[in-house]
Amino acid sequence: MAGMNKAPVIVILGPGSLATARRIQACYPQALIHGLEGRVEGADRYYAAFGDTLRALYQQDTPIIALCAAGIVIRTLAPLLSEKGVEPPVLVVAEDGSAVVPLLGGLGGVNVMAREIGEALGVSAAITTSGELRFGTCLLNPPEGYALADLEQGKRFVSDLLAGETVRVEGDAPWLEHAQLPASDEAQRTIHVGSALRPASRDELLIHARCVVVAVTAGSADLVHQIREELLRANIAEPALACLLASEAEMTEPALHEAAKALNVALRFAPAAESLERMLADAVPQARVGSAVGLAHAVCPAPVDIDRVGRRRGRLAVIGLGPGAAELMVPAVKAELARAQDVLGYETYVRMAGPFRNDQVLHCTDNREEMQRARHAFELAAQGRSVVVVSSGDPGVFAMAAAVLEALHESSDPAWQRVELEILPGVSASLATAAQAGAPLGHDFCVMSLSDNLKPWSIIEKRLDLAAQADLVLAFYNPISKSRPHQLGVALELVRRHRDPGTPVVLGRDIGRPGQTLRVVTLGELLPEMVDMRTMVLVGSSTTCTFPRADGGQWVYTPRWYPAKP
Ligand code: SAH
Repeated sequence: MAGMNKAPVIVILGPGSLATARRIQACYPQALIHGLEGRVEGADRYYAAFGDTLRALYQQDTPIIALCAAGIVIRTLAPLLSEKGVEPPVLVVAEDGSAVVPLLGGLGGVNVMAREIGEALGVSAAITTSGELRFGTCLLNPPEGYALADLEQGKRFVSDLLAGETVRVEGDAPWLEHAQLPASDEAQRTIHVGSALRPASRDELLIHARCVVVAVTAGSADLVHQIREELLRANIAEPALACLLASEAEMTEPALHEAAKALNVALRFAPAAESLERMLADAVPQARVGSAVGLAHAVCPAPVDIDRVGRRRGRLAVIGLGPGAAELMVPAVKAELARAQDVLGYETYVRMAGPFRNDQVLHCTDNREEMQRARHAFELAAQGRSVVVVSSGDPGVFAMAAAVLEALHESSDPAWQRVELEILPGVSASLATAAQAGAPLGHDFCVMSLSDNLKPWSIIEKRLDLAAQADLVLAFYNPISKSRPHQLGVALELVRRHRDPGTPVVLGRDIGRPGQTLRVVTLGELLPEMVDMRTMVLVGSSTTCTFPRADGGQWVYTPRWYPAKP
């Protein structure tokens, strides 16, 4: 999977492609199959518009394996090709698996993928890249851990070899051992692999091995400049830098994260030691360590596997799935789910957030164990993992975000405080229900949970009474449950004291989920039996009104204005 760091997406248009798609998926277990809605059953995800989906994937740098005619894909992506920017691998595969054609992303490893898929399907890939055909590898696309110094020079170099020049390899290039290069010990042209800073000579293909780690502290002024100076002093080429290492105590220092970003390398952390040199030697054994004031660098004999250097800063995201339908989930939440290593939550919601890859660990718990779940999430994130806690709707509305913050507030564990914590919003049930009914929340409204599990019933009565008096539209979450069967009736009695029996009431059940129902009744008609724990109740104010809609239902809205007192 050289050069490919994002999981590919397999796009299919019809049910006839599913079997081939599954065979391809067997070589990329992280890839999900996206099927055309209404046409394909049994895919992992569904899309509505082929063109928009393909273009969005391309722009997000996602490798695409499309099971359809090459022409369709070419026409679809053509408008994007003149733009500079990302170019992920794009391949087309014949529906029956009889042909594999790499189209785009030569430098992103498309030919490698084409070969892998061809092998899985028992056909040979339609490779058309001359260098690749001749040498059995793309010299311009070295594997992970190596970086090409200059692409333009590289292209000239490959042309020279294709024109008959011979070549010699200097340094360690294990991936070239099986390549069919025109090798000769007397060759003028050389492929040079190393980490040293050297002038690019016309006759060489310079490839940097990413085998250097630099240990830093956040205290130093102008960190990026200092790191570059140190590399220069130690005669190390900048692309050979694999990652920065800092002490765990400095995990939240913005200067470190900014420097890593500016240098486009990863940032890792290790326990503090008596010196940076010591810390580095412990984290990167077998390296040659050198140091300067406020800095130390380590040069390893081979590319560094950054997953084995110290640990990452852990991340904890509390996300809102929205009501349930995938198209109501915000893109930031989708991206967070894709990067998650651990997913925690109530089983129903975790399942709603899927499908997940085999490498993602699911921790499903009962709905009531919120604090325990929040603490478990911090424990995982504090180990450097990327953790997601799922809520339905919005995580900040009667859900996990407050529990997670409460757990953090109570804790004195410095490792928990260092976790990168983010709350990502979702479409809350009241908003999703309101949107389907029209605009019942178009004016001032009040949101309440009718559950007295975590607050006394007397406070619920008081708030209901005052909110009803204030003529606010009322949105009730947790309106009723098996263990609280009578309270909704009591609540409605209270509201009826201040509100007309003709007041419109919206009942949204399983909104955005299979089998959703939306009902509009009046306050006079409303019975607790019409409501269950999967229902959102919106009680109108004195100005909320209804009128018939063309499909036979009713629109409900609350005007933006309020009548002036006579
Ligand atoms: N965080 C969630 C709310 C959790 S409280 C959100 O922002 O939507 C759980 C209550 O939300 C349920 O008892 C029900 O009243 C309401 N609810 C959640 N999802 C719903 C849906 N899809 N349709 C209708 N009501 C829903």
